[in-house]
Amino acid sequence: MTNFGSDVLIIGAGMSGLTAARILTDAGKRVVVVDKGRNVGGRLATRRIGEGQADHGAQFFTVRDAIFRTYVDRWIKDGLVFEWSRGWSDGSLVETRDGHPRYAVRGGMNALARILADGLDVRPGVEISAVHRISDGWQAEDINGRHFTAEGLIMTAPAPQTLALLDAGKVPLEGEDRAALEAIRFDPCVTGMFLIDGEASLPQPGAIQRPGAQIAWIADNKRKGIASKTLLTAQANPNYSRVLWDRRDDEIINSMRIDLMPFIGENTRILEGEIKRWRYALPTQLHPEPTLIAQNLPLLAFGGDAFGQPRIEGAFLSGWATGEAIRDLLG
Ligand SMILES: Cc1cc2nc3c(=O)[nH]c(=O)nc-3n(C[C@H](O)[C@H](O)[C@H](O)COP(=O)(O)OP(=O)(O)OC[C@H]3O[C@@H](n4cnc5c(N)ncnc54)[C@H](O)[C@@H]3O)c2cc1C
Repeated sequence: MTNFGSDVLIIGAGMSGLTAARILTDAGKRVVVVDKGRNVGGRLATRRIGEGQADHGAQFFTVRDAIFRTYVDRWIKDGLVFEWSRGWSDGSLVETRDGHPRYAVRGGMNALARILADGLDVRPGVEISAVHRISDGWQAEDINGRHFTAEGLIMTAPAPQTLALLDAGKVPLEGEDRAALEAIRFDPCVTGMFLIDGEASLPQPGAIQRPGAQIAWIADNKRKGIASKTLLTAQANPNYSRVLWDRRDDEIINSMRIDLMPFIGENTRILEGEIKRWRYALPTQLHPEPTLIAQNLPLLAFGGDAFGQPRIEGAFLSGWATGEAIRDLLG
């Protein structure tokens, strides 16, 4: 019997990987979570710009499920999460607010990931390059040649990245499982962050959502409470993101500046502008179940927001289901 580094290795310290880690740790399992990012959180991402912070991945979240509700209620009670809005204006005179609460995180969305990671064995800055099946477990290798062994393996990176790791280690996936992972699709999102000298004219509570427009989302992080000066997050819609994708950052900043003019005025100075390209921003073709357990390969499971629902709550529920499944299989 191999002496494993942990009972379960989890690739990805986003919402789904951290949730799975919590379930398994609470069940007494030894869990190691690795992530290639410098920080935990994945798409729960907040960046410092000037003296403020900008959420540049997920902007808010909604709650439908009862288990997630109990967590969110606790986070609200602890002062971590607050209700930000009950829907967004699209800038027209038509009322588009639907009355459902949208929640945000004090200190930025990434603060939620940091709370979830608290007390877990999470190792940021570890980029896995291949996973291998070893006699009675799994071994993952990172780009610096370090090895991580475990009896069980949970993979939560977006499906194309997960498939690349499996293929690099020649893991013999069953055809049905491979087809399920290959069917998952994501839209990209080019996101700009702009620190501006002045105010932005955005409807309450400081954000606008216009799925049909080139810039589909604009939010002011100052009015969200995480910046002291006007600091905008602007998301290009999927088609515009594809158009912008290969342009240089300064070109994208310039294009987005023109798109933002109706909201910031022509003469407003942009003090700082940064661009983030999310290749796998939101899943558009989902796996119908919250988790996928590999057939004929012991203790290998897949999760993430492409399993079930394409949003933070979906990533949480997938992490939950994947953690429980591996916990039950480990016995
Ligand atoms: C621009 C944008 C806006 C969004 N807006 C919203 C919103 O308003 N509301 C909402 O509910 N959802 C929103 N989402 C979606 C939401 O962020 C995701 O559904 C959720 O955060 C996904 O969590 P996850 O754990 O499944 O994946 P991720 O957060 O992507 O976690 C996967 C992790 O795997 C890591 N990883 C990948 N490859 C490797 C490797 N080789 N080695 C080690 N680690 C690796 C990555 O670094 C990443 O941290 C948005 C997403 C984006 C990008």
